[in-house]
Amino acid sequence: MSSDWTQCAITPAVNHEGFASLGVAVYRASTIPFENAQAYATRRERGSEGYSYGLYGTPTTRTLERKITALEQGRRTLLAPSGQGAITAVMLATLHAGDQVLLPDTVYPPVRDFADRDLVRLGVQVDYYDPLDPADLVRRMGARPRLVWVESPGSTTMEVQDLPRIAALAHERGAVVGCDNTWATPLNFKPLAHGADIVVEGLTKYFCGHSDVMMGSITVADNALGDALRAFLGRLGVGVSADDAALVLRGLETMALRLAYNARVAASLIDAVRAQPEVARVLYPTLADSPGHAVFRRDFQGASGVFSVVFTPQAAPHVAAALDALRIFVIGASWGGTRSLVAPMPVRAHRTVRAWEGDDMVLRISVGIEDEADLAKDLQGFFQALRDRMARHAGA
Ligand SMILES: *Cc1c(COP(=O)(O)O)cnc(C)c1O
Repeated sequence: MSSDWTQCAITPAVNHEGFASLGVAVYRASTIPFENAQAYATRRERGSEGYSYGLYGTPTTRTLERKITALEQGRRTLLAPSGQGAITAVMLATLHAGDQVLLPDTVYPPVRDFADRDLVRLGVQVDYYDPLDPADLVRRMGARPRLVWVESPGSTTMEVQDLPRIAALAHERGAVVGCDNTWATPLNFKPLAHGADIVVEGLTKYFCGHSDVMMGSITVADNALGDALRAFLGRLGVGVSADDAALVLRGLETMALRLAYNARVAASLIDAVRAQPEVARVLYPTLADSPGHAVFRRDFQGASGVFSVVFTPQAAPHVAAALDALRIFVIGASWGGTRSLVAPMPVRAHRTVRAWEGDDMVLRISVGIEDEADLAKDLQGFFQALRDRMARHAGA
């Protein structure tokens, strides 16, 4: 019998026979014990699917990876500590000095910032293209196009891109195609089936679904690319915790239900929002006048619950203050959780190819899972506050 001190430190193996659970076990690990020195010495031979160190995966993270791989109809998924981290990892792993990366003008602003500061610093040629015009992409391709990035629909202004066409043009010139699918999720769009080589999801949003985990995924259609990305993430020292992966696995169980509700309520709120005289335009791919609507109808299964509102020039300056009237909607970044959110987003500074013609501030709205009538009433209160402010301003 070992001493108490040793018994405190050592965990006994208990019988698992006869036990099963519908939940996914949280396997926390840095060290993974080996049965003998030979097994330890040859641990690299276990391959990228084996277990050798906590950073390189646990059964919990592999379970999440496998579920995402199935949804994306891909070969392999890697997890990253955020959606942004997944995107930058793809770019760092694929781009060499002298290569060109082509980004849509509507790319997620932190990705634009990363490209302009860090990729440029590393000698990568960074160019932006019109997300709605594949011919513009071709015109901007130089001698060494290596990666064409797609984000569909685009951040805030919701341009749906013609991924099959863009992928064909990029592949003709030897470039790899990556697609940020955070808005749609694989339930509404499958980028790998539409020509992309790599798809990234911000799991922080709809997958997690509860606004309390940061995570991203990278899914590839090709095993060799998957192995290269896993090795690169290992060298960077980037991985995710089993606890966080388990929370995303829990959120994923209800994602289809949540998305269906989010989209249905978004559609009904949009009807009411568009009827307001203070609204110039609603940007949401299901609407016939939303950019890329025909491509959306051709390629997507459905919509999620995020849309953007462009106000008239008279109303726009009063929107920020009128948001104080909201009682249920929360002001904040991100989306895809249980709570409905609004975020005033400046657009003009993030466009370099095609100037943004609406008011600089666009209000992004993410519908949560609250009662539809309560949300409609909350928005009515906001529009009343907006009209009151406009009237006071006109009278002053
Ligand atoms: C939020 C978001 C990301 C980044 O996800 P994080 O997990 O918040 O880093 C990437 N792309 C799009 C389109 C997003 O909306």
